[in-house]
Amino acid sequence: MTADIHMHTSFSTDSETPVEEMVEQAIACGMDTICITDHQDYGLAKPGYFQVDPAAYWEKMVQVRDAYRDRIRILTGIEIGMHMDYREKIHAFINAYPFDYILGSVHLVDGIDPYDRALYPGTDDVMYRHYFEQTLECVRQIDGFQALGHLDYVVRYGYDRDVYAYEKYADVIDEILKELIARGIALEVNTGGYKSGLGCPNPHPDVLRRYRELGGERITLGADAHNPAYIGYEFERAEKVIRDAGFREITIFVDKKPEILVIPSK
Ligand SMILES: [Zn+2]
Ligand SMILES: [Zn+2]
Repeated sequence: MTADIHMHTSFSTDSETPVEEMVEQAIACGMDTICITDHQDYGLAKPGYFQVDPAAYWEKMVQVRDAYRDRIRILTGIEIGMHMDYREKIHAFINAYPFDYILGSVHLVDGIDPYDRALYPGTDDVMYRHYFEQTLECVRQIDGFQALGHLDYVVRYGYDRDVYAYEKYADVIDEILKELIARGIALEVNTGGYKSGLGCPNPHPDVLRRYRELGGERITLGADAHNPAYIGYEFERAEKVIRDAGFREITIFVDKKPEILVIPSK
């Protein structure tokens, strides 16, 4: 695919790459469409962490979008950290500017960032289950996002990744998938899973197959690059996984409306 609609720049706490550098690399590696989705998260322990200055961010997005118009299509986006305690703030943020694409992701479990695994007091099994339950609650109660980011991302940070299998959490995951389908929200395939050594994207191919089985049609694709080297990372592998799960198309969002791209057959 020549569209990568999940990436970060120095507007995100965990990236040091200037916006223009990401854009230049995207052009260099043949992308014709990208969406910049910097982090806006609420509820993290350190104040100001993973929060953008919305006005400065929007201004920059519009500036680069226009400046590069003849070379690449830049879509404006945000990766909003979904958290039930901050529902009102989340809605206010995503409605403040006319972003093309709102990617809703859950980054905390019971208020704890699983990246700091040692801070979470429970077993991997409890952490995974709570993550899915909290994702379900957010998907039901939060509005305005077009895709759910990296479902099963929490597994990246477990002590024992083997604890995870779709079947073990199928009761909750199926409810998440049904809710997405009923609301017309896409499911993201995030190739950051490969980078984390999972050997597959997030979510696991079993989840993609189940989504298809339940009637799901909209898949988005993003590498979640935090530096230029990872733009479009492992897209060919992910495309095969997506095709094997029964999909022939990828969805991107322009002005929040779905646009369909056919997956090249290899
Ligand atoms: Zn994320
Ligand atoms: Zn991200």
